[in-house]
Amino acid sequence: MPTTVIRNADWVIAWDAAQQRQVYRRGVDIAFAGDTITHLGPAAYPGTADRVIDGAGLMVMPGLIDIHSHPHHEPLYRGIREEHGVANMHMTGLYERGQAFSVPDDEAREASAEFAYCELLLSGVTSLVDISAPFDGWIELFAKSGMRGFLAPGYASARWFLENDLGPSYDWDEARGRAGFQRALRVIDAALAHPSGRLSGVVSPMQIDTCTEDLLRDSRDAARERGLAFTTHCAQSVNEVREMIFRYGVTPIQWAHRLGLLGPGTILGHALFIDTHSWVRWHTKDDLKLLGDTGTAVAHCPTPFARYGQIMEHFGDYLRAGAVMGLGTDCSPHNLVEEMRKASVLARIAARDIHAVDVADFLHAATAGGAMALLRDDIGRLAPGKKADLVLVDLSCAQMQPARDPLRGFVYHAADRAVRDVFVDGIQVVADRRVLTMDQADAARRLAAAQERMQAETPQRDYLRRRSEEIVPLSLPLAD
Ligand SMILES: [Zn+2]
Repeated sequence: MPTTVIRNADWVIAWDAAQQRQVYRRGVDIAFAGDTITHLGPAAYPGTADRVIDGAGLMVMPGLIDIHSHPHHEPLYRGIREEHGVANMHMTGLYERGQAFSVPDDEAREASAEFAYCELLLSGVTSLVDISAPFDGWIELFAKSGMRGFLAPGYASARWFLENDLGPSYDWDEARGRAGFQRALRVIDAALAHPSGRLSGVVSPMQIDTCTEDLLRDSRDAARERGLAFTTHCAQSVNEVREMIFRYGVTPIQWAHRLGLLGPGTILGHALFIDTHSWVRWHTKDDLKLLGDTGTAVAHCPTPFARYGQIMEHFGDYLRAGAVMGLGTDCSPHNLVEEMRKASVLARIAARDIHAVDVADFLHAATAGGAMALLRDDIGRLAPGKKADLVLVDLSCAQMQPARDPLRGFVYHAADRAVRDVFVDGIQVVADRRVLTMDQADAARRLAAAQERMQAETPQRDYLRRRSEEIVPLSLPLAD
């Protein structure tokens, strides 16, 4: 097994198992053999190594864990999604966009996913929950990326469709949901059997409002049987909250609890519109306590909501209630460091309190918190015996200077610009800011062509038969 040693790293973010938290260490050696970390200071690494990396000018940190993403379509929305929303649907553009801008074909899915995987690696993500409609070649593409994958093939009993701009209608087809569930399990089992050993799965009925009670329960059971996490979108829009209250008399979180879905290993994307949220103000005050008492995980993705004018209220309260907080990139750009920064600032705005959260909370969410959500204790932390998923941050990057506190420098200033090298399972996948496993420029060309094909179909898909430019005009008028 090839051994790599990083000698005398200026800064290391290491796992303190006794305190269950990330800590700084200075001037230490880190070694890994095969896929496993074998040494982490304070004494110098005594063995021989096949490769020696000079740790001067570096911060070595655990690879980031992204527990919510949709790589197969979100890159297609660049230039479309950022300022799209429907005021009559409490600002969300989710339902209108999903219908009008639909992924045209598997080639588009592939280009989009490959492009997103590059963005993710370049910003230090080494583990990804990929919630996608399964397509042929998905497992092979993910394996090629070199990232650690938690494939989450989505399925549902109902499809949203629009009849007006007030909210989605539901087209129910239970058999389709069941067939999707079975296909998802086949994909997950194939991922688990992949020879790379880097692929796993998450059972993912798409939304709490589009899946039948039985499908949700059976999905949760299938996840438990396999020792895997379970995820669904829940409390992600005001429309959804109102729909669930109308159907069942309880909030989406309370409905999930009633079905026995909450608990360790369950990840809710995004649990933002809880009963106490200022946009909901339902008369109960139970949702946050339910999340915390059951140890349910939340995939917090601030960007899509912030663009609509919505924020979580607030991250610090969720943490202190006992919810397992993780982070995700629900939309483009797929940059988890930017999400850490945005989440911290928005939490303070929501709390009106500088001390409501700190950067260590978000590092934890993007590493050990995400790992806990996925029922894993071997990733998201640098310590002997853990997986060799590492990010080498370049302290000489201008935006990292002066590097008094490199985590703050990384999250608040430099982000992906300072990510120099990335290793997953001990294998280098990013070197000197270039992805070694995929061709991002080629993926970008295919992505642009796919976006054209998607927009060409928009008038047939949109409920008002509008062209793409009518739904989302360019940001500036086009002068003659
Ligand atoms: Zn999502």
